[in-house]
Amino acid sequence: MPNTNDINLPDMSQLSACGVDFIDELYFESLLKQKPDAGKINEIIAKSKNKEPLKIDETAMLLSADDPETIERIFETARQLKRDVYGNRIVLFAPFYVGNYCMNDCAYCGFRRSNRESIRKTLTVDELHEQVTNLLRMGHKRTIMVFGEHINYGPVFIANCVKEVYSVRFGLDSIRRVNINAAPLSHEGYRLVKAAGIGTYQVFQETYHRPTYARMHPAGTRKSNFAWRLDSPARAIESGCDDVGLGALFGLANWKFEVLSLVAHSNHLMKSYGVGPHTISFPRIRPASGVTLREVIENNVADADFLRLIAILRLSVPYTGLIVTAREPAEIRKIALGFGVSQVDAGSHIEIGGYENIDKDEIKDVQVQALEREQFELGDVRPLDEVVLQLLNDGYVPSFCTACYRLGRTGKVFMEYAIPGFIQNMCTPNALTTLKEYLVDHASPATRAAGEKVLKEELDKFQDTPKKSELLKRIERINNSNDRDLYW
Ligand code: SAM
Ligand code: SF4
Repeated sequence: MPNTNDINLPDMSQLSACGVDFIDELYFESLLKQKPDAGKINEIIAKSKNKEPLKIDETAMLLSADDPETIERIFETARQLKRDVYGNRIVLFAPFYVGNYCMNDCAYCGFRRSNRESIRKTLTVDELHEQVTNLLRMGHKRTIMVFGEHINYGPVFIANCVKEVYSVRFGLDSIRRVNINAAPLSHEGYRLVKAAGIGTYQVFQETYHRPTYARMHPAGTRKSNFAWRLDSPARAIESGCDDVGLGALFGLANWKFEVLSLVAHSNHLMKSYGVGPHTISFPRIRPASGVTLREVIENNVADADFLRLIAILRLSVPYTGLIVTAREPAEIRKIALGFGVSQVDAGSHIEIGGYENIDKDEIKDVQVQALEREQFELGDVRPLDEVVLQLLNDGYVPSFCTACYRLGRTGKVFMEYAIPGFIQNMCTPNALTTLKEYLVDHASPATRAAGEKVLKEELDKFQDTPKKSELLKRIERINNSNDRDLYW
Protein backbone atom coordinates (compact mmCIF):
# COMPACT_ATOMS: atom_id res chain seq x y z
CA MET A 1 0.00 0.00 0.00
CA PRO A 2 1.56 3.37 -0.97
CA ASN A 3 2.02 6.02 1.68
CA THR A 4 -1.13 8.07 1.19
CA ASN A 5 -0.73 10.25 4.24
CA ASP A 6 2.05 12.24 2.60
CA ILE A 7 1.63 15.37 4.67
CA ASN A 8 4.99 15.22 6.46
CA LEU A 9 8.02 17.05 5.10
CA PRO A 10 8.19 16.84 1.29
CA ASP A 11 10.23 14.08 -0.29
CA MET A 12 12.37 16.05 -2.73
CA SER A 13 13.27 12.92 -4.68
CA GLN A 14 9.64 12.96 -5.86
CA LEU A 15 9.70 16.11 -7.99
CA SER A 16 8.23 16.14 -11.49
CA ALA A 17 10.33 15.18 -14.48
CA CYS A 18 10.38 18.69 -15.92
CA GLY A 19 12.49 20.74 -13.48
CA VAL A 20 11.85 23.78 -11.28
CA ASP A 21 14.39 26.28 -12.55
CA PHE A 22 12.09 28.33 -14.77
CA ILE A 23 11.83 31.33 -12.42
CA ASP A 24 14.99 33.24 -13.25
CA GLU A 25 14.84 36.29 -10.97
CA LEU A 26 17.80 38.16 -12.46
CA TYR A 27 16.55 37.67 -16.02
CA PHE A 28 12.97 38.67 -15.11
CA GLU A 29 14.21 41.77 -13.30
CA SER A 30 16.29 42.74 -16.33
CA LEU A 31 13.25 42.30 -18.58
CA LEU A 32 11.24 44.55 -16.28
CA LYS A 33 13.81 47.33 -16.69
CA GLN A 34 13.16 47.60 -20.45
CA LYS A 35 11.88 50.90 -21.79
CA PRO A 36 8.62 50.79 -23.75
CA ASP A 37 9.14 50.43 -27.51
CA ALA A 38 6.07 51.54 -29.49
CA GLY A 39 6.91 49.41 -32.54
CA LYS A 40 7.36 46.23 -30.51
CA ILE A 41 4.23 46.91 -28.48
CA ASN A 42 2.22 47.23 -31.71
CA GLU A 43 3.57 43.88 -32.92
CA ILE A 44 2.76 42.20 -29.61
CA ILE A 45 -0.77 43.57 -29.56
CA ALA A 46 -1.27 42.29 -33.14
CA LYS A 47 0.02 38.86 -32.07
CA SER A 48 -2.42 38.82 -29.15
CA LYS A 49 -5.32 39.77 -31.39
CA ASN A 50 -4.40 36.66 -33.34
CA LYS A 51 -4.87 34.71 -30.07
CA GLU A 52 -1.25 33.58 -29.88
CA PRO A 53 0.16 33.08 -26.35
CA LEU A 54 2.97 35.53 -25.56
CA LYS A 55 6.58 34.83 -24.60
CA ILE A 56 7.69 36.36 -21.34
CA ASP A 57 9.80 39.07 -22.96
CA GLU A 58 6.63 40.11 -24.84
CA THR A 59 4.60 40.17 -21.63
CA ALA A 60 7.40 42.24 -20.06
CA MET A 61 7.17 44.71 -22.92
CA LEU A 62 3.42 45.12 -22.32
CA LEU A 63 4.15 45.63 -18.62
CA SER A 64 6.58 48.42 -19.50
CA ALA A 65 3.87 50.43 -21.29
CA ASP A 66 3.02 53.37 -19.06
CA ASP A 67 1.31 55.97 -21.24
CA PRO A 68 -2.50 56.14 -20.95
CA GLU A 69 -3.08 55.65 -24.67
CA THR A 70 -1.13 52.36 -24.87
CA ILE A 71 -2.67 51.13 -21.64
CA GLU A 72 -6.12 51.80 -23.12
CA ARG A 73 -5.15 49.85 -26.26
CA ILE A 74 -4.18 46.92 -24.07
CA PHE A 75 -7.57 47.11 -22.32
CA GLU A 76 -9.35 47.30 -25.67
CA THR A 77 -7.47 44.24 -26.99
CA ALA A 78 -8.34 42.36 -23.80
CA ARG A 79 -12.04 43.24 -24.28
CA GLN A 80 -11.91 41.98 -27.86
CA LEU A 81 -10.16 38.72 -26.87
CA LYS A 82 -12.65 38.16 -24.10
CA ARG A 83 -15.53 38.54 -26.56
CA ASP A 84 -13.89 36.41 -29.27
CA VAL A 85 -12.72 33.54 -27.08
CA TYR A 86 -15.28 33.42 -24.28
CA GLY A 87 -18.34 35.20 -25.67
CA ASN A 88 -20.45 36.83 -22.97
CA ARG A 89 -20.65 33.83 -20.63
CA ILE A 90 -19.48 34.07 -17.04
CA VAL A 91 -19.06 30.80 -15.14
CA LEU A 92 -20.25 30.82 -11.51
CA PHE A 93 -18.96 28.78 -8.59
CA ALA A 94 -18.76 28.81 -4.80
CA PRO A 95 -15.79 28.15 -2.51
CA PHE A 96 -16.36 25.52 0.16
CA TYR A 97 -14.03 25.56 3.18
CA VAL A 98 -13.83 22.16 4.83
CA GLY A 99 -11.28 22.62 7.61
CA ASN A 100 -9.00 25.35 8.92
CA TYR A 101 -6.44 23.42 10.95
CA CYS A 102 -3.06 24.32 9.54
CA MET A 103 0.51 23.48 10.45
CA ASN A 104 1.98 26.31 8.38
CA ASP A 105 2.45 29.87 9.51
CA CYS A 106 1.92 32.00 6.40
CA ALA A 107 2.21 35.61 7.55
CA TYR A 108 -0.87 36.80 5.59
CA CYS A 109 -3.39 34.07 6.47
CA GLY A 110 -5.98 33.93 9.26
CA PHE A 111 -5.62 30.13 9.41
CA ARG A 112 -1.89 30.16 10.21
CA ARG A 113 -0.99 28.07 13.21
CA SER A 114 0.20 30.93 15.44
CA ASN A 115 -3.15 32.75 15.16
CA ARG A 116 -4.75 32.04 18.53
CA GLU A 117 -7.87 34.06 17.59
CA SER A 118 -8.80 31.53 14.93
CA ILE A 119 -11.54 29.08 15.93
CA ARG A 120 -10.43 25.71 14.49
CA LYS A 121 -12.89 23.33 12.96
CA THR A 122 -13.19 20.47 10.48
CA LEU A 123 -16.64 19.68 9.14
CA THR A 124 -18.11 16.30 10.08
CA VAL A 125 -19.65 14.24 7.28
CA ASP A 126 -23.14 15.35 8.38
CA GLU A 127 -22.08 18.99 8.43
CA LEU A 128 -20.51 18.59 5.00
CA HIS A 129 -23.80 17.21 3.66
CA GLU A 130 -25.68 20.12 5.20
CA GLN A 131 -23.30 22.67 3.67
CA VAL A 132 -23.59 21.09 0.23
CA THR A 133 -27.38 21.01 0.57
CA ASN A 134 -27.34 24.74 1.27
CA LEU A 135 -25.10 25.36 -1.76
CA LEU A 136 -27.55 23.39 -3.89
CA ARG A 137 -30.49 25.27 -2.38
CA MET A 138 -28.88 28.49 -3.63
CA GLY A 139 -28.47 27.05 -7.13
CA HIS A 140 -24.76 26.24 -7.27
CA LYS A 141 -23.51 23.35 -9.41
CA ARG A 142 -19.75 23.88 -9.14
CA THR A 143 -17.65 24.27 -6.03
CA ILE A 144 -14.02 24.50 -5.05
CA MET A 145 -13.20 22.77 -1.76
CA VAL A 146 -10.50 24.50 0.28
CA PHE A 147 -8.32 22.95 3.01
CA GLY A 148 -5.60 24.13 5.37
CA GLU A 149 -2.40 22.09 5.23
CA HIS A 150 -2.55 19.60 8.08
CA ILE A 151 -1.88 15.99 8.96
CA ASN A 152 -5.68 15.51 9.07
CA TYR A 153 -6.12 16.70 5.48
CA GLY A 154 -4.04 14.19 3.53
CA PRO A 155 -5.09 12.99 0.08
CA VAL A 156 -7.28 10.17 1.40
CA PHE A 157 -9.28 12.67 3.47
CA ILE A 158 -9.54 15.09 0.54
CA ALA A 159 -10.64 12.30 -1.83
CA ASN A 160 -13.32 11.16 0.64
CA CYS A 161 -14.63 14.72 0.99
CA VAL A 162 -14.87 15.03 -2.80
CA LYS A 163 -16.86 11.79 -3.03
CA GLU A 164 -19.16 12.93 -0.22
CA VAL A 165 -19.91 16.19 -2.03
CA TYR A 166 -20.81 14.37 -5.24
CA SER A 167 -23.13 12.05 -3.30
CA VAL A 168 -25.41 14.79 -1.94
CA ARG A 169 -28.82 15.23 -3.62
CA PHE A 170 -31.25 18.07 -3.04
CA GLY A 171 -34.44 18.08 -5.10
CA LEU A 172 -33.32 17.76 -8.72
CA ASP A 173 -29.85 19.03 -7.94
CA SER A 174 -26.37 17.77 -7.19
CA ILE A 175 -22.91 19.32 -7.41
CA ARG A 176 -21.58 18.49 -10.86
CA ARG A 177 -17.98 19.64 -10.60
CA VAL A 178 -15.80 19.63 -7.48
CA ASN A 179 -12.48 21.45 -7.78
CA ILE A 180 -9.97 21.57 -4.96
CA ASN A 181 -7.58 24.18 -3.60
CA ALA A 182 -5.18 22.23 -1.46
CA ALA A 183 -1.54 22.15 -0.47
CA PRO A 184 0.95 20.36 -2.75
CA LEU A 185 0.72 16.55 -2.83
CA SER A 186 2.95 13.79 -4.16
CA HIS A 187 2.19 11.99 -7.42
CA GLU A 188 0.41 9.29 -5.44
CA GLY A 189 -1.69 11.90 -3.64
CA TYR A 190 -2.73 13.49 -6.93
CA ARG A 191 -3.69 10.13 -8.38
CA LEU A 192 -5.95 9.54 -5.37
CA VAL A 193 -7.77 12.87 -5.60
CA LYS A 194 -8.10 12.52 -9.37
CA ALA A 195 -9.67 9.08 -8.92
CA ALA A 196 -12.22 10.70 -6.59
CA GLY A 197 -13.34 12.84 -9.54
CA ILE A 198 -11.86 16.30 -9.00
CA GLY A 199 -12.19 18.86 -11.75
CA THR A 200 -9.43 21.45 -11.35
CA TYR A 201 -6.52 21.16 -8.91
CA GLN A 202 -5.71 24.70 -7.85
CA VAL A 203 -2.64 25.81 -5.93
CA PHE A 204 -1.27 29.33 -5.65
CA GLN A 205 2.47 29.88 -5.50
CA GLU A 206 1.65 32.95 -3.32
CA THR A 207 4.80 34.72 -4.53
CA TYR A 208 7.30 33.63 -7.18
CA HIS A 209 9.92 35.93 -5.65
CA ARG A 210 12.13 33.62 -3.57
CA PRO A 211 13.34 36.15 -0.93
CA THR A 212 9.76 37.35 -0.34
CA TYR A 213 8.54 33.74 -0.25
CA ALA A 214 11.11 32.97 2.45
CA ARG A 215 10.00 35.98 4.53
CA MET A 216 6.31 34.99 4.38
CA HIS A 217 6.71 31.28 5.09
CA PRO A 218 8.84 30.59 8.18
CA ALA A 219 11.61 28.03 7.86
CA GLY A 220 10.77 24.61 9.25
CA THR A 221 7.19 24.68 8.02
CA ARG A 222 6.25 22.45 5.14
CA LYS A 223 5.19 25.42 3.06
CA SER A 224 8.62 27.04 3.37
CA ASN A 225 9.78 24.67 0.62
CA PHE A 226 9.47 26.92 -2.46
CA ALA A 227 10.49 24.26 -5.00
CA TRP A 228 8.03 21.62 -3.74
CA ARG A 229 5.19 24.10 -4.18
CA LEU A 230 6.42 25.49 -7.52
CA ASP A 231 6.63 21.95 -8.89
CA SER A 232 3.18 20.88 -7.66
CA PRO A 233 1.12 21.76 -10.78
CA ALA A 234 3.61 19.75 -12.88
CA ARG A 235 3.29 16.73 -10.56
CA ALA A 236 -0.49 17.08 -10.71
CA ILE A 237 -0.47 17.02 -14.53
CA GLU A 238 1.91 14.04 -14.58
CA SER A 239 -0.53 12.23 -12.27
CA GLY A 240 -3.58 12.82 -14.47
CA CYS A 241 -4.93 16.05 -12.95
CA ASP A 242 -4.60 17.87 -16.25
CA ASP A 243 -6.78 20.88 -15.37
CA VAL A 244 -4.57 22.86 -13.01
CA GLY A 245 -5.16 26.34 -11.61
CA LEU A 246 -2.22 28.65 -10.92
CA GLY A 247 -2.22 31.85 -8.89
CA ALA A 248 -0.19 34.43 -7.02
CA LEU A 249 -1.19 36.42 -3.96
CA PHE A 250 -0.78 40.03 -5.01
CA GLY A 251 0.62 42.51 -2.51
CA LEU A 252 3.59 40.43 -1.38
CA ALA A 253 6.15 41.13 -4.14
CA ASN A 254 6.30 43.51 -7.14
CA TRP A 255 3.11 42.87 -9.18
CA LYS A 256 4.92 42.98 -12.52
CA PHE A 257 7.34 40.29 -11.35
CA GLU A 258 4.39 38.07 -10.35
CA VAL A 259 2.66 38.54 -13.72
CA LEU A 260 5.84 37.64 -15.57
CA SER A 261 6.28 34.57 -13.36
CA LEU A 262 2.69 33.41 -13.88
CA VAL A 263 3.23 33.62 -17.64
CA ALA A 264 6.59 31.82 -17.28
CA HIS A 265 4.90 29.08 -15.24
CA SER A 266 2.14 28.76 -17.81
CA ASN A 267 4.64 28.56 -20.70
CA HIS A 268 6.74 26.04 -18.79
CA LEU A 269 3.75 23.69 -18.37
CA MET A 270 2.76 24.16 -22.00
CA LYS A 271 6.29 23.35 -23.18
CA SER A 272 6.69 20.36 -20.86
CA TYR A 273 3.24 18.76 -21.16
CA GLY A 274 1.53 20.41 -24.13
CA VAL A 275 -1.04 21.91 -21.76
CA GLY A 276 -1.13 25.27 -20.00
CA PRO A 277 -3.05 26.05 -16.82
CA HIS A 278 -6.83 25.77 -16.99
CA THR A 279 -7.18 28.90 -14.87
CA ILE A 280 -5.09 31.66 -13.32
CA SER A 281 -6.11 33.54 -10.15
CA PHE A 282 -4.66 36.78 -8.85
CA PRO A 283 -6.06 37.38 -5.36
CA ARG A 284 -5.06 40.59 -3.59
CA ILE A 285 -4.36 40.32 0.12
CA ARG A 286 -7.38 41.08 2.32
CA PRO A 287 -7.59 41.89 6.03
CA ALA A 288 -7.56 38.71 8.09
CA SER A 289 -7.94 37.83 11.74
CA GLY A 290 -4.63 38.19 13.58
CA VAL A 291 -2.84 39.60 10.52
CA THR A 292 -1.16 43.01 10.56
CA LEU A 293 -1.53 44.06 6.95
CA ARG A 294 1.32 46.53 6.92
CA GLU A 295 3.69 43.74 7.88
CA VAL A 296 2.73 41.62 4.87
CA ILE A 297 1.71 44.04 2.10
CA GLU A 298 5.11 45.19 0.96
CA ASN A 299 3.90 46.00 -2.56
CA ASN A 300 0.37 47.30 -2.50
CA VAL A 301 -1.40 46.88 -5.87
CA ALA A 302 -3.59 49.90 -6.66
CA ASP A 303 -6.91 49.26 -8.40
CA ALA A 304 -5.63 50.73 -11.68
CA ASP A 305 -2.62 48.39 -11.68
CA PHE A 306 -4.81 45.45 -10.67
CA LEU A 307 -7.00 46.01 -13.73
CA ARG A 308 -3.92 46.42 -15.90
CA LEU A 309 -2.47 43.14 -14.74
CA ILE A 310 -5.70 41.31 -15.59
CA ALA A 311 -5.72 42.78 -19.11
CA ILE A 312 -2.04 41.88 -19.65
CA LEU A 313 -2.69 38.31 -18.50
CA ARG A 314 -5.64 38.13 -20.90
CA LEU A 315 -3.34 39.10 -23.78
CA SER A 316 -0.56 36.74 -22.64
CA VAL A 317 -2.59 33.53 -22.14
CA PRO A 318 -5.67 33.88 -24.36
CA TYR A 319 -7.07 30.40 -23.69
CA THR A 320 -6.65 30.30 -19.92
CA GLY A 321 -9.67 31.07 -17.74
CA LEU A 322 -9.14 34.05 -15.43
CA ILE A 323 -10.82 34.06 -12.03
CA VAL A 324 -11.58 37.08 -9.88
CA THR A 325 -12.95 36.08 -6.49
CA ALA A 326 -15.24 37.75 -3.98
CA ARG A 327 -12.13 39.05 -2.21
CA GLU A 328 -12.61 41.99 -4.57
CA PRO A 329 -15.45 44.46 -4.14
CA ALA A 330 -18.39 44.28 -6.56
CA GLU A 331 -17.32 47.42 -8.47
CA ILE A 332 -13.86 46.04 -9.32
CA ARG A 333 -15.30 42.66 -10.29
CA LYS A 334 -17.74 44.38 -12.63
CA ILE A 335 -14.95 46.21 -14.49
CA ALA A 336 -12.68 43.14 -14.58
CA LEU A 337 -15.41 41.05 -16.21
CA GLY A 338 -15.31 43.31 -19.26
CA PHE A 339 -11.77 42.59 -20.27
CA GLY A 340 -10.68 39.20 -19.26
CA VAL A 341 -12.31 37.47 -16.35
CA SER A 342 -14.34 34.38 -17.24
CA GLN A 343 -15.17 32.90 -13.81
CA VAL A 344 -16.43 34.42 -10.55
CA ASP A 345 -17.61 33.01 -7.25
CA ALA A 346 -20.87 34.30 -5.82
CA GLY A 347 -22.82 34.10 -2.58
CA SER A 348 -19.52 32.97 -1.07
CA HIS A 349 -18.88 32.16 2.58
CA ILE A 350 -15.35 31.27 3.57
CA GLU A 351 -15.86 30.50 7.22
CA ILE A 352 -16.04 26.80 8.08
CA GLY A 353 -19.72 25.88 8.05
CA GLY A 354 -20.65 29.28 6.62
CA TYR A 355 -23.45 28.22 4.27
CA GLU A 356 -26.55 28.48 6.39
CA ASN A 357 -30.15 28.06 5.40
CA ILE A 358 -31.07 31.69 6.00
CA ASP A 359 -32.81 34.37 4.02
CA LYS A 360 -30.89 36.97 2.06
CA ASP A 361 -31.20 39.90 4.49
CA GLU A 362 -29.54 37.95 7.25
CA ILE A 363 -26.52 36.99 5.19
CA LYS A 364 -24.51 40.15 5.79
CA ASP A 365 -24.99 39.97 9.61
CA VAL A 366 -23.84 36.37 9.65
CA GLN A 367 -20.81 37.38 7.58
CA VAL A 368 -19.79 40.01 10.13
CA GLN A 369 -20.05 37.60 13.07
CA ALA A 370 -17.97 35.02 11.26
CA LEU A 371 -14.57 36.70 11.06
CA GLU A 372 -12.84 34.43 13.58
CA ARG A 373 -13.79 31.41 11.49
CA GLU A 374 -12.72 33.01 8.20
CA GLN A 375 -9.41 32.94 6.42
CA PHE A 376 -9.75 36.60 5.41
CA GLU A 377 -12.52 39.17 4.81
CA LEU A 378 -14.53 39.17 1.59
CA GLY A 379 -15.08 42.30 -0.48
CA ASP A 380 -18.27 41.16 -2.25
CA VAL A 381 -20.84 39.51 0.02
CA ARG A 382 -23.85 39.71 -2.31
CA PRO A 383 -26.04 36.59 -2.51
CA LEU A 384 -25.83 34.47 -5.67
CA ASP A 385 -29.20 35.70 -6.96
CA GLU A 386 -28.08 39.32 -6.76
CA VAL A 387 -24.86 38.57 -8.66
CA VAL A 388 -26.81 36.64 -11.32
CA LEU A 389 -29.21 39.57 -11.71
CA GLN A 390 -26.39 42.06 -12.09
CA LEU A 391 -24.65 39.87 -14.67
CA LEU A 392 -27.89 39.64 -16.66
CA ASN A 393 -28.47 43.38 -16.45
CA ASP A 394 -24.90 43.97 -17.66
CA GLY A 395 -25.44 41.79 -20.76
CA TYR A 396 -23.70 38.59 -19.61
CA VAL A 397 -24.97 35.02 -19.64
CA PRO A 398 -24.38 33.52 -16.17
CA SER A 399 -23.35 29.90 -16.74
CA PHE A 400 -23.45 26.91 -14.40
CA CYS A 401 -22.04 24.62 -17.08
CA THR A 402 -19.81 21.69 -16.11
CA ALA A 403 -19.91 19.77 -19.39
CA CYS A 404 -16.28 19.81 -20.57
CA TYR A 405 -14.88 18.10 -17.52
CA ARG A 406 -17.60 15.46 -17.54
CA LEU A 407 -17.14 14.69 -21.23
CA GLY A 408 -13.37 14.34 -20.87
CA ARG A 409 -12.62 17.70 -22.46
CA THR A 410 -9.82 18.52 -20.03
CA GLY A 411 -6.15 19.45 -20.26
CA LYS A 412 -4.70 19.17 -23.74
CA VAL A 413 -8.03 18.06 -25.18
CA PHE A 414 -9.70 21.17 -23.75
CA MET A 415 -6.96 23.34 -25.25
CA GLU A 416 -7.65 21.81 -28.65
CA TYR A 417 -11.36 22.46 -28.27
CA ALA A 418 -10.89 25.95 -26.94
CA ILE A 419 -10.42 27.29 -30.43
CA PRO A 420 -12.72 30.05 -31.61
CA GLY A 421 -16.12 28.72 -32.51
CA PHE A 422 -16.11 25.78 -30.14
CA ILE A 423 -16.86 27.87 -27.11
CA GLN A 424 -19.68 29.62 -28.92
CA ASN A 425 -21.08 26.35 -30.32
CA MET A 426 -20.85 24.21 -27.19
CA CYS A 427 -20.42 26.52 -24.25
CA THR A 428 -23.12 29.02 -25.14
CA PRO A 429 -25.86 26.37 -25.56
CA ASN A 430 -24.72 24.70 -22.32
CA ALA A 431 -24.66 28.07 -20.59
CA LEU A 432 -28.23 28.74 -21.74
CA THR A 433 -29.62 25.40 -20.54
CA THR A 434 -27.92 25.76 -17.14
CA LEU A 435 -29.16 29.34 -16.88
CA LYS A 436 -32.67 28.10 -17.65
CA GLU A 437 -32.36 25.54 -14.84
CA TYR A 438 -31.34 28.29 -12.44
CA LEU A 439 -34.23 30.51 -13.51
CA VAL A 440 -36.82 27.74 -13.12
CA ASP A 441 -35.48 26.19 -9.90
CA HIS A 442 -33.86 28.98 -7.89
CA ALA A 443 -34.25 32.54 -9.19
CA SER A 444 -36.16 35.37 -7.53
CA PRO A 445 -39.00 36.83 -9.65
CA ALA A 446 -36.85 39.82 -10.74
CA THR A 447 -33.94 37.58 -11.76
CA ARG A 448 -36.28 35.18 -13.54
CA ALA A 449 -37.76 38.04 -15.59
CA ALA A 450 -34.32 39.45 -16.49
CA GLY A 451 -33.05 35.95 -17.28
CA GLU A 452 -35.91 35.00 -19.58
CA LYS A 453 -35.32 38.23 -21.53
CA VAL A 454 -31.59 37.47 -21.94
CA LEU A 455 -32.38 33.87 -22.90
CA LYS A 456 -34.69 35.03 -25.66
CA GLU A 457 -32.14 37.56 -26.95
CA GLU A 458 -29.42 34.91 -27.00
CA LEU A 459 -31.62 32.36 -28.75
CA ASP A 460 -32.55 34.94 -31.39
CA LYS A 461 -28.84 35.24 -32.23
CA PHE A 462 -28.66 31.54 -33.24
CA GLN A 463 -29.08 30.64 -36.87
CA ASP A 464 -31.86 28.16 -37.69
CA THR A 465 -29.89 24.92 -37.56
CA PRO A 466 -30.66 21.47 -36.11
CA LYS A 467 -28.54 22.55 -33.13
CA LYS A 468 -30.89 25.45 -32.44
CA SER A 469 -33.98 23.20 -32.66
CA GLU A 470 -32.40 20.78 -30.19
CA LEU A 471 -31.46 23.62 -27.87
CA LEU A 472 -35.02 24.99 -27.95
CA LYS A 473 -36.38 21.52 -27.18
CA ARG A 474 -34.05 21.16 -24.20
CA ILE A 475 -35.07 24.53 -22.82
CA GLU A 476 -38.72 23.54 -23.13
CA ARG A 477 -38.04 20.24 -21.34
CA ILE A 478 -36.41 22.08 -18.45
CA ASN A 479 -39.37 24.44 -18.29
CA ASN A 480 -42.05 21.76 -18.41
CA SER A 481 -40.57 18.70 -16.75
CA ASN A 482 -38.04 17.50 -14.23
CA ASP A 483 -35.43 16.87 -16.95
CA ARG A 484 -32.15 18.49 -15.93
CA ASP A 485 -28.45 18.32 -16.66
CA LEU A 486 -28.76 18.18 -20.46
CA TYR A 487 -25.41 19.02 -22.00
CA TRP A 488 -23.25 18.77 -25.11
N1 SAM B 1 -3.60 25.61 2.60
C1 SAM B 1 -3.69 25.54 1.19
C2 SAM B 1 -2.49 26.18 0.56
O1 SAM B 1 -1.72 26.82 1.24
O2 SAM B 1 -2.33 26.02 -0.66
C3 SAM B 1 -4.96 26.23 0.76
C4 SAM B 1 -4.75 27.61 0.66
S1 SAM B 1 -5.69 28.84 1.31
C5 SAM B 1 -6.93 28.11 2.26
C6 SAM B 1 -6.23 29.50 -0.26
C7 SAM B 1 -5.47 30.73 -0.69
O3 SAM B 1 -5.97 31.88 -0.01
C8 SAM B 1 -3.99 30.79 -0.38
O4 SAM B 1 -3.25 30.04 -1.31
C9 SAM B 1 -3.69 32.27 -0.43
O5 SAM B 1 -3.26 32.68 -1.71
C10 SAM B 1 -5.04 32.92 -0.15
N2 SAM B 1 -5.00 33.78 1.04
C11 SAM B 1 -4.48 33.48 2.24
N3 SAM B 1 -4.59 34.55 3.07
C12 SAM B 1 -5.19 35.54 2.37
C13 SAM B 1 -5.56 36.90 2.67
N4 SAM B 1 -5.33 37.45 3.85
N5 SAM B 1 -6.17 37.61 1.70
C14 SAM B 1 -6.42 37.07 0.49
N6 SAM B 1 -6.09 35.80 0.15
C15 SAM B 1 -5.47 35.04 1.07
FE1 SF4 C 1 -2.32 27.34 6.04
FE2 SF4 C 1 -2.83 27.71 3.44
FE3 SF4 C 1 -3.36 29.63 5.28
FE4 SF4 C 1 -0.86 29.07 4.70
S1 SF4 C 1 -2.42 29.89 3.25
S2 SF4 C 1 -1.67 29.33 6.78
S3 SF4 C 1 -0.96 26.91 4.32
S4 SF4 C 1 -4.34 27.65 5.09
